[in-house]
Amino acid sequence: MSLRIETTDVLIIGAGPAGSVAAAFLRQQGRSVMILERQQFPRFSIGESLLPQSMEYIEAAGLLRDVVEAGFQYKNGATFARGDQTTWFDFRDKFSPGWGTTYQVQRATFDDVLARGAERMGAELRFQHEVLAVEPGERPRVTVRSPEGEEYVVEAAFLLDASGFARLLPRLLDLERPSNFPVRGALFTHVRDNTPAGSFDRNKIVITTHPEHVDVWYWTIPFSNGCCSQGVVAEPSFMEKYTGTDLERLQAMVAEAPNLRRLLVNAEWDVMPVRQIVGYSANVSSLVGPGYALLGNAGEFLDPVFSSGVTIAFKSAQLAADCLERQFAGETVDWEQDFSEPLRMGVRTFRRFVESWYAGGFQNIIYHQDQQPEVKRMICAILAGYAWDRNNPYVADDNGRRLRVLEELCSA
Ligand code: FAD
Repeated sequence: MSLRIETTDVLIIGAGPAGSVAAAFLRQQGRSVMILERQQFPRFSIGESLLPQSMEYIEAAGLLRDVVEAGFQYKNGATFARGDQTTWFDFRDKFSPGWGTTYQVQRATFDDVLARGAERMGAELRFQHEVLAVEPGERPRVTVRSPEGEEYVVEAAFLLDASGFARLLPRLLDLERPSNFPVRGALFTHVRDNTPAGSFDRNKIVITTHPEHVDVWYWTIPFSNGCCSQGVVAEPSFMEKYTGTDLERLQAMVAEAPNLRRLLVNAEWDVMPVRQIVGYSANVSSLVGPGYALLGNAGEFLDPVFSSGVTIAFKSAQLAADCLERQFAGETVDWEQDFSEPLRMGVRTFRRFVESWYAGGFQNIIYHQDQQPEVKRMICAILAGYAWDRNNPYVADDNGRRLRVLEELCSA
């Protein structure tokens, strides 16, 4: 029996940040857009600290009001702690022009807000519809299973895979390539922190390095409801040394960082079960193919340390929407040149800093006592997500020489 066929201009797989923002951009262009999302929202997701650069895409997509009205925790920077050293960056004092503030968000609400915003703008949003199979080509087709178990086909002029860590097209089309980062894992939960009012700058994410292991770090992300997201990132060989329940293991690791021990002394740990993700770094042979492009985590995912994931997801959505606008207007678009290359340029910037972080060099830079204010503002711009601003010498630093020189100066 042949399956029912529906059509749309652009079909988007996944209603995470990449999918919803792409849908909003395409609706602004007047395209018909269908988003197929296998889960029912709101649903938990990790990735709770945004970067100011992401606000530019939220605003351009017409979703700023939705996000502002949701009442998330305001964010203006990042605090770093290592042993008895503490330093912080205020994202409003940065080299690149643009937004200097953003939010720390519970992703269940944030993703729902973006998806509903795209729906309000006219995207057809179907929850609990799972894409099972894909046929790329001039008019790509996907096979979908509805919540009632019925299968049907959607045919589109273009397909955007925004399926996140599920990495649907990379898996189905054999595009997956190993990341060159070692396998790392994260153990995390939400806690009610019970910190006395005024004792803790809730407007900043706290990134703490383990006192003895330079490549083990913790995030503490305050929310507007009195809770924090608390996580630790390490290689599995480190995590395996801790026994007991996941909660006991997480608490034992957190207790090894003196600043976190103090900060969370009165915390309640029963807000949410502890979760674990291992081996999230991923890459693909190509971000584009016949009739499709990969957005956000469905393409490349680096590492969580600089909270760059959602920003990269939004950037990919914006680049794809720009390419599609020209393609629907009859232009021939070179997707490698106009989508993959510009996206990867910023990802490479983040990659240089992530590699330097784990090797310890970037940590020496941020804790250096005599930072030149102009250099600090350039570094701050990258931490704020402005990884595509080639006026910043540390973005235009394609071979990483400038960063290496700074590492050497700061390690002296
Ligand atoms: P997702 O948000 O994963 O959305 C994909 C959607 O596709 C999901 O809703 C899924 O249900 C749906 N889907 C999957 N398969 C199908 C299918 N077959 N059919 C239909 N729907 C499907 N980023 C930050 O910006 N800040 C942070 O602080 C941060 N912290 C992180 C911490 C950790 C430990 C990790 C691992 C990542 C972190 N990230 C962070 C990264 C962030 O989680 C991701 O980059 C971001 O969620 C990517 O968004 P996305 O839209 O590409 O995918």
